[in-house]
Amino acid sequence: MSEILVVGSVALDTVQTPFGSVKEALGGSAVYFSISASYFVKVKIVAVVGTDFPRRYIQLLKSHRIDIKGLQKKPGETFRWIGEYDYNLNEAHTIDTKLNVFENFYPAIPEEYKNTPYIFLANIDPDLQEKVLSQVFSPKLVVLDTMNFWISSKRESLKKVLKKVDIFLLNESETRQLSEEYNLLKAVKKILKWGPKAIIVKRGEYGAIYFDNNSMFFVPSYPLENIYDPTGAGDSFAGGFLGYIASKNKIDKKTIKQATVFGSVMGSFAVEDFSLNKISKIKKSDILKRYCEFKKFTHF
Ligand code: AMP
Repeated sequence: MSEILVVGSVALDTVQTPFGSVKEALGGSAVYFSISASYFVKVKIVAVVGTDFPRRYIQLLKSHRIDIKGLQKKPGETFRWIGEYDYNLNEAHTIDTKLNVFENFYPAIPEEYKNTPYIFLANIDPDLQEKVLSQVFSPKLVVLDTMNFWISSKRESLKKVLKKVDIFLLNESETRQLSEEYNLLKAVKKILKWGPKAIIVKRGEYGAIYFDNNSMFFVPSYPLENIYDPTGAGDSFAGGFLGYIASKNKIDKKTIKQATVFGSVMGSFAVEDFSLNKISKIKKSDILKRYCEFKKFTHF
């Protein structure tokens, strides 16, 4: 079984949705990803927190056997994100982003992490994503995620790092924003020319589409009656996706299709409660049950 290295944000999130709110709850791209992927393989995390980061959150990561040797603690405050959703839960509105300790963060990859075969560059400054790639030794697969904040503020850096990426994850509106094309097929074609071998477009409650230069594959999202907080759905999707690939240690088309379904399954657990309240408490059997249900409602 293989391992994954993730570099991304560890955050205290303040989130409001039509169904409730949380203040300074555990969040961050690297956290959602790690907890989700931890159901499949061992995950090593490189990120930074401030001195105010609650100990109980460290304990939560440890209880999922996540290796936190690369989690730096620096003087100052932890990264904070304030977001809001209206009834269109597919789109987050950022109210405030406070980079805090991320402002001077250097993603130093510990020596023993440098050979990790699977790398997830979670949503973080694309210049930092590039710095990670300059330190690791020929990984088998590099997957990258980003968001509108970086597309508008660091577009050229993002395009530069995309040259070195195998699979690029982004949501539908970000695909249009980055490519400056409205039509999704045209948008994907344009971005594929910039370097990534494949793109997965996340479409919130409508699922996700995998594209490469000669094929596409559609996965719906798991039908849920109660969605409380979509924060972290994308990173949890990525955790299920790459977690499954790493657990099989195979990168063929069949594994990628199955992994896309596992991504959708993990995203569904993330949105059923605020913060990581649900996804951190599930069992492997819950994951497999939903995976099997996908077979039933997509086979014809
Ligand atoms: P998503 O899976 O796209 O919903 O990602 C949600 C997580 O992204 C939240 O927990 C936030 O803390 C984190 N986040 C929000 N803005 C940024 C940013 N500019 N850089 C890195 N992480 C962010």
